[in-house]
Amino acid sequence: MGKLEQQVKELLVNQKQTWELARDNYVALDKIQTRRLKYTDRDVLLQFNPERIRSSAAKVDKASLDARPCFFCHRPKEQQSIIYNRDFEILVNPYPIFQEHLTIPLLRHEQQQIKPYIGDMLDIAWNLPSYAVFYNGPKCGASAPDHMHFQAGICSGFPIVQEWKQIEKQELWNKNGVQLYSLKKTQPTSLFFLSNDKEKLVEFFESIYELLEIKENEYEPRMNLLTWIEDNRWVICLFPRQESRPSCFYKEGEANILVSPATVEMSGLFIFPLEKDFRKVSEIDIQTIWKEVSLSEEQLEGLICQIKGFN
Ligand SMILES: [Zn+2]
Repeated sequence: MGKLEQQVKELLVNQKQTWELARDNYVALDKIQTRRLKYTDRDVLLQFNPERIRSSAAKVDKASLDARPCFFCHRPKEQQSIIYNRDFEILVNPYPIFQEHLTIPLLRHEQQQIKPYIGDMLDIAWNLPSYAVFYNGPKCGASAPDHMHFQAGICSGFPIVQEWKQIEKQELWNKNGVQLYSLKKTQPTSLFFLSNDKEKLVEFFESIYELLEIKENEYEPRMNLLTWIEDNRWVICLFPRQESRPSCFYKEGEANILVSPATVEMSGLFIFPLEKDFRKVSEIDIQTIWKEVSLSEEQLEGLICQIKGFN
C-alpha cells in the first residue's frame, strides 16, 4: 500500500472513532438495506440511505447556494484533512455511501469545473489505487457546485468498475497510446478511455470535451466522470449528460421517485433516501432514468462520427 493510501486509511479509522457524526453514520451504513436488480447484462445495486436526503433533494440554484454557508469552507471542528498537493485536500465524507468515502475539495472556494483539474483527478486515482475517484458536474449531481471537489469510494462499491470488461463494447479509437470504447446497446451512454500515459490521456479527454455541447447559461458540458487504476493504467469512464434530473423526480403521487442521478447512479449504484422509492423501483424505472438523463442514441452517434474523424 502506498504512503498516501495508508494515511487515508488511518484518517478513516481515526474520524470514525473521534467524530460522532461520522461514527454514527458509518455504523448506520453497515446496517443499511440494499437490493439487487438484474438489468440486461448489468447489475444494479439499490441502497436505502435516509441520510442522503441532503444530497438527493439539495437545492443547487444560485439563490439557495448564496443563502447557505459553503460546507467545505465552514467545517465542523472535528473534521480533519490530509493536504494532497498544492490544490487539494482529502476529507472523510460524514454522510457516506461507501464504507470508505472521501471528499477531495480544492483548497480555495472556486466553482465546480473539470477542465483545469482533470490531471489532478488522474494523479489522485494513481496515488489511491484501491479507490475510484469521481466528479459530478455542477448540473449533474454535485451538491456543492460552488466549490470544486472530487469524491472517492472504494472500487468494489461501483458495479461498473467490476463489470465493464464483460459488457459488449465498440472500439472508437486506438492510437497514440490511448484507447476509447463506447458500450453497445446499453444505457447509460458512456465512453471509456484507457491509457498509461497521463499527458496523452489528458489531451485526448480535452479533445472529446471540446465536442460536447455546453447549454445556454452554463460553463461546461454536462457530465459525470469516474476514474480508477487497472493493470497499471487509468480507466476513465465518462457519462455525457443531457438532463440534471429525470422526469420522475418532478412527478406527483405514486409516480414520484426522489433520485438525483450522479456518478454513483450512472455507475450502477442507486441511492434512495426514501423507503417508498427503494421498495418500488423496477428495472424499467432504472432504464428510463438512465435514458432520460443521458445523451440520446442520435447524439452519441453524432459524437462517435466526430471522434472517428480525428487524425
Ligand atoms: Zn467553499
